[in-house]
Amino acid sequence: MMSAMTNSPRSQMNYRPRIGQAAADGLLIVCKCYVCRRSRAYLATDLVQAYHPEIFIDDLFGGNCPRCGSSHNWRVKQRFPSNADVGMLTVRRLTGIRQTPLWRDELYSAPEKAKNG
Ligand SMILES: [Zn+2]
Repeated sequence: MMSAMTNSPRSQMNYRPRIGQAAADGLLIVCKCYVCRRSRAYLATDLVQAYHPEIFIDDLFGGNCPRCGSSHNWRVKQRFPSNADVGMLTVRRLTGIRQTPLWRDELYSAPEKAKNG
């Protein structure tokens, strides 16, 4: 018989999971701040819509707690959802993405005149 699988998808020492793979595996991303004593769970499939798939999960939110800015006490982990989560775990779902206008300075050049005939 096979030994029981752990709840941790990949546990090699130096493996840094990326959000794209976590989304493909259907994982939960659980962020915890030990200063704020706050824990939030996200669906990797939501996060991959807001972040590049190649982003490491521990680089989400800049690697810092969004509230207090702590990085030393901030942990991001991935795990498989379980039946115990159904109807119990609060997940922070993506409801939309706000587009931010980006600006840069450049030298003025006259707009091309529309050609009539
Ligand atoms: Zn915090």
